[in-house]
Amino acid sequence: MNQDRWRARKVSIVGAGAVGSTFAYALAQSGLADEIAIIDLNRELVQGQVLDLAHGLPFFPSVEIHAGERSDYADAHVIVISAGTGQRPGESRLDLLQRNASIIESIVDDIVGQDSQAAIVVVSNPVDVLTHVAFRRSGWDRGRVIGSGTVLDSARFRYLLSQRCDVDVHNVHAYVLGEHGDSEVAAWSLTNIAGMPIDEYCPTCGKCADWRGERDEIVKAVRDSAYHIIDYKGATYFAIGLALVRIVGAILRNQRSVLTVSTVLDGEYGLEDVCLSAPCIVSGRGVEQVVEASLSPGELDALARSASILRDAMAELRPSG
Ligand code: NAD
Repeated sequence: MNQDRWRARKVSIVGAGAVGSTFAYALAQSGLADEIAIIDLNRELVQGQVLDLAHGLPFFPSVEIHAGERSDYADAHVIVISAGTGQRPGESRLDLLQRNASIIESIVDDIVGQDSQAAIVVVSNPVDVLTHVAFRRSGWDRGRVIGSGTVLDSARFRYLLSQRCDVDVHNVHAYVLGEHGDSEVAAWSLTNIAGMPIDEYCPTCGKCADWRGERDEIVKAVRDSAYHIIDYKGATYFAIGLALVRIVGAILRNQRSVLTVSTVLDGEYGLEDVCLSAPCIVSGRGVEQVVEASLSPGELDALARSASILRDAMAELRPSG
């Protein structure tokens, strides 16, 4: 191999807390990255996480893991931002807004200051609003500044459907769209099992006495998942760590995967200048295309409502310097 042309697939993670460190662990195990840099204001936490992970190197696929600094933005392929504060019990994601917005802005300033060519993946909540904050602050193309969005919610939706329908989760295709939060929209019209739209599949299955009624319960369970986990153990981090590996893997391997990441809409679904999740083609360049799927009129209305809630949250933000 020509060493001059070889460039490590590098991921820089900002925020070494529960989400950032779990993602680092899952990413190291995936073998997708050659180098992982971990950055946090809390230097002792970073040292502890890096040492703990480094002791796993004999068991991971080849990867270099180290404590990072601003210069690690310059040559990263992907920068994942999980810095901020977690949701407190009973606190809505939107309550976190102001606290986390200024953190994101200062991190994005550092990234831009390093002349980075990376794609940014925002995870910190409220993720849709903070992705928009990062997008505006960076001045970059919309495709390069994306949010983890409802990739996690779509996974929860698929899991609950697979449990209810008693079918392998890998054969359940389903998307949650809109806000990663209370106004999210379960897109039943895009849901299919065994290649059949769910409306055709349900009557053939016979596992539910009232399958239409069961749907409302599933949607509520998806929406409330994070609240329950936070009540039980204080934070969510395993599934989001894996969802991030899926998103970052699609970028590093130029996979053109269809994922419900959060992106700034530019007329798609009749919406613009708001960040929310829709099915997107994710490649080495980040979001290449927002797929305009055929939603039902009710789903389109719900998506517009979700967008309007997010716009209101953005309007609440105090302008910063
Ligand atoms: P955490 O408190 O465990 O970790 C956050 C870390 O960010 C801390 O170590 C803190 O020192 C660091 N930090 C704060 N300001 C910083 C800065 N300016 N630069 C560098 N580091 C900084 O929190 P967590 O549980 O890891 O959650 C992180 C974020 O991810 C939260 O906003 C949480 O709500 C969000 N989250 C999102 C999803 C999702 O699906 N989008 C899922 C779970 C959690």
